[in-house]
Amino acid sequence: MTQLNEFTLAQARDAIASKQVSAVELTQAHIAAIENARALGAFVVETPDQALAMAAAADARIAKGEAGPLEGLPIGVKDLYATKGVHTQACSHILDGFKPAYESSVTANLWRDGAVMLGKLNMDEFAMGSSNETSFYGPVASPWLPAGWSAEKARAAAATKDKKGLLVPGGSSGGSASAVAAHLCLGATASDTGGSIRQPAAFTGTVGIKPTYGRCSRWGMVAFASSLDQAGPIARNVRDCAIMLRSMAGYDPKDTTSVDAPVPDYEKAIGASIKGRKIGIPKEYRVDGMPEEIDALWSRGVEWLRAAGAEIVEISLPHTKYALPAYYIVAPAEASSNLARYDGVRYGLRVAGRDIQEMYENTRAEGFGPEVRRRIMIGAYVLSAGYYDAYYVRAQKIRTLIRRDFETAFAAGVDAILTPATPSAAFGIGEKTNADPVEMYLNDVFTVTVNMAGLPGLAVPAGLSKDGLPLGLQLIGRPFDEETLFSLAQVVEDAAGRIDLPKPWWS
Ligand code: GLN
Repeated sequence: MTQLNEFTLAQARDAIASKQVSAVELTQAHIAAIENARALGAFVVETPDQALAMAAAADARIAKGEAGPLEGLPIGVKDLYATKGVHTQACSHILDGFKPAYESSVTANLWRDGAVMLGKLNMDEFAMGSSNETSFYGPVASPWLPAGWSAEKARAAAATKDKKGLLVPGGSSGGSASAVAAHLCLGATASDTGGSIRQPAAFTGTVGIKPTYGRCSRWGMVAFASSLDQAGPIARNVRDCAIMLRSMAGYDPKDTTSVDAPVPDYEKAIGASIKGRKIGIPKEYRVDGMPEEIDALWSRGVEWLRAAGAEIVEISLPHTKYALPAYYIVAPAEASSNLARYDGVRYGLRVAGRDIQEMYENTRAEGFGPEVRRRIMIGAYVLSAGYYDAYYVRAQKIRTLIRRDFETAFAAGVDAILTPATPSAAFGIGEKTNADPVEMYLNDVFTVTVNMAGLPGLAVPAGLSKDGLPLGLQLIGRPFDEETLFSLAQVVEDAAGRIDLPKPWWS
């Protein structure tokens, strides 16, 4: 029999339904897996007692015939989501000791449907980053090994504070991606402001979807850039992602940008025919210096969809090249405003000073890491009276043009757009340093457009790099048409074949 943590989420659900395993057994297996994998740094807080209590309650509901769609399924929660009475710090020092008195709407939806919480997952501080290296709790290692590395070498590197040389799992949802890929949980919540679900999914051979803006409630999710942030799942395959999203999504009167539209049963879209669906291939995504293997992956994806009956058309999204610079104005602007609330007065860290002004300064200087400070400074600058028109207003105008590019493509009958998910495979921890932040920002070149336009985007593994590391493709859809993305992604997943993880080296 397979180990209980080898199940996919759908398999675990079916095993529970057929009484092959109990929720408690399934949870115990995952708790043991987490304890064995501490070297990865994926979890910042483990909640085994709470998990076992939730699992026992799930078993009781199953016995009474009252099981929900996720009954007894153990999952991980990104530290960005408020979890009642449990550590919630967005992996920042400034939220030191914060345990919210409330539950985020998305996690509340998951518990309503019977899911079990294993703990809180590591992430880049305030979700700012593409490598999970900006976390106050240290970096997360990918379960994938750099080419030529032995298990011993990896274990030695993982035991050090900075885990240098191991691969990044991507960011900002690096803990979510690493934990899912390493079979520490059946699925995880994540969040995506400019790519933080799709890029880590692509780097770890997992599946992630950023739904349409407004599909999931942002209530109780620590805000980074409110007009771009969206919740979504990372899971080991397309079906598992569809199952999780159905539970996470839904209208919430507590979030004014949440959309009051029924949530479809996304799982039904899996296996649906894609015959005659029109897939756009945007020529502007063939960026300079793109590695040959990414180009080849993209062409293979095109062929797989064509073979399954889709019609492939070349499209143009002419404002693509402005998306990244515009994003790095809009996102820091909103962040500088959202993060103004962390002042040492009401909650979190407080570093004393001679007067209140100095207390604010000391608290913020000590509480925020370098990347977050950089974003706050950029944001305050582009919103300042003298530069507002030159930067912020222009970036907003570009945002409108980017959205129109997509609208034009969809109006011409395109059902979805296929692009690479990332410009490269995972890189090493410590490889892209603070010396040139733009190098890190370039990771988001294929993903930020989707947030700027509020569209749904899904990353699905599609092959391996020359070094044997996962590479992903991205599917971009019409607003609120996540179903088409699931149908198309399943075709890619089936064609790519199973992408197995290397043997666990961490225990
Ligand atoms: N990497 C991007 C950034 O640093 C996106 C982050 C995200 O989606 N949360 O802003």
